[in-house]
Amino acid sequence: MTNPPERLLWIDNTEVDSSTRQRFSTVNPATGETLARVAEAEAADVDRAVRSARAAQPGWAALSGVERGRLLARAATAVRGHRDELARLECLDGGKPIAETPEADVDSAADCLEYFAGQAASLQGEYQEVAGGFFYTRPEPLGVCGGIGAWNYPLQIAAWKAAPALAAGNTMVFKPAELTPLSGLRLAEIFAEAGLPAGVFNVIQGAAETGQALTGHPDVDKISLTGEVGTGKAVMRAAADSLKAVTMELGGKSPLIVFDDASLEDAVSGALLGNFYTQGEICTNGTRVYVHEHIMDAFIERVIDRTRQLRVGDPADPATDVGALISPAHRDRVLDFIARGEAEGAERLIGGEPVSVPGCDGGTFISPAVFRVADDRCVIAREEIFGPVMSILPFADEADVIARANNSPYGLAGGVFTADLQRAHRVAAALKAGVVWINHYNLTPIEMPFGGVGQSGIGRENSRRALDHYTQLKSVFVASGGVDAPY
Ligand code: NDP
Repeated sequence: MTNPPERLLWIDNTEVDSSTRQRFSTVNPATGETLARVAEAEAADVDRAVRSARAAQPGWAALSGVERGRLLARAATAVRGHRDELARLECLDGGKPIAETPEADVDSAADCLEYFAGQAASLQGEYQEVAGGFFYTRPEPLGVCGGIGAWNYPLQIAAWKAAPALAAGNTMVFKPAELTPLSGLRLAEIFAEAGLPAGVFNVIQGAAETGQALTGHPDVDKISLTGEVGTGKAVMRAAADSLKAVTMELGGKSPLIVFDDASLEDAVSGALLGNFYTQGEICTNGTRVYVHEHIMDAFIERVIDRTRQLRVGDPADPATDVGALISPAHRDRVLDFIARGEAEGAERLIGGEPVSVPGCDGGTFISPAVFRVADDRCVIAREEIFGPVMSILPFADEADVIARANNSPYGLAGGVFTADLQRAHRVAAALKAGVVWINHYNLTPIEMPFGGVGQSGIGRENSRRALDHYTQLKSVFVASGGVDAPY
């Protein structure tokens, strides 16, 4: 048996070892096989990466927006050039179906780089005449930004954070999740290949302690985190010590409301996409599916029928619909939710069983589960499971279902399926959510602001709005006359 390859840190456009030479393993969740031994960054390594980013930042910010944009556009092209390789890496490291990763991971990352390449030259201030002169504003970069990623969309998250930060003239130190360290590092290498200067994008590897060293570093100006609510709170507390700016993309338990005039097939498609894509490991998933009682039986019949046809299998097989959960611990957590849901009276209609996949011994597969839930207080209808578990709940009245949909500390997303135009917009306006889909679910075009309200987050990613979260305004007052001092 050959030893797994070693992957290190990325500082100053060079792959470098950590000071302690400590390693951790990253494994393929579909097989348990070790993919690589990865260098673990200590506080000293984080400091080294931050110093590199700090040293590079003035030069990077001094480039014109057009020049920064040109380099980001080259990076987008390079990412597309490595599409197959990156898609395979996300599949291996994350257990995600290869049927998804080229588009959902690689294209999404490239689209984001391309979009912000175009936006880099568009940063503008304001001008206004006022008593005694005029002022103008300068959108200036924050400086060094720390990015901390979750394991479900590692490449996409790295790009969604890096592209707007870099477009605005910041530099970045990025920490991928310990469970999926490979694509962030590969992205850094591709950035260098595309001509990004040394220090502009550094990657440190490790678990929570490495993230804490980054969050607590006095010379980091901003932290952008994608992770759980609890992690968000810890990171915000740590960031408060040095009053860092924060963007928080956190968890959710989003409602998807299906009225009785909706296209049944579209609504079922939306519910399946919003629960089972990426094995259900998606923050915005519409895991509370509220279905009007008039169409409940027909909806459930179609959901069960189409869920039965989903193929749980080797993520590397293009025919696979549902891959492996990220780790044995996470698989057990999802199964535990399923057991607790049943114990609390939820009716399991299909799925929710461990699945053994030929050729993938040691894989963490479970069949997509659908529950009929009578009580909104049931654990599986309240808590984020982050696995393929759909809860279907009946409703009869619009005002009542909106109140129930909003009865959650989360506020990431929501969906409504209806043929009634006015109702669609009325419900979209009433939902406590950062993103609402009307007659679709989980589409995240890069042009559309993305983020949550309530405990689901602070700030927005994607769209021009993201630039507001990676810049600070300086107001410059210019006097038009002499100084009339009373002293
Ligand atoms: P975690 O919150 O466990 O981890 C997120 C990242 O934070 C990881 O890199 C983790 O390190 C790091 N981290 C953990 N503790 C700390 C700390 N105290 N200080 C600094 N960094 C820390 O989330 P998961 O990776 O388990 O991802 C799943 C969660 O992410 C779900 O709740 C999901 O909803 C949410 N999510 C939100 C999205 C959004 O855009 N709103 C999108 C995708 C996911 P490590 O894991 O390496 O130990």
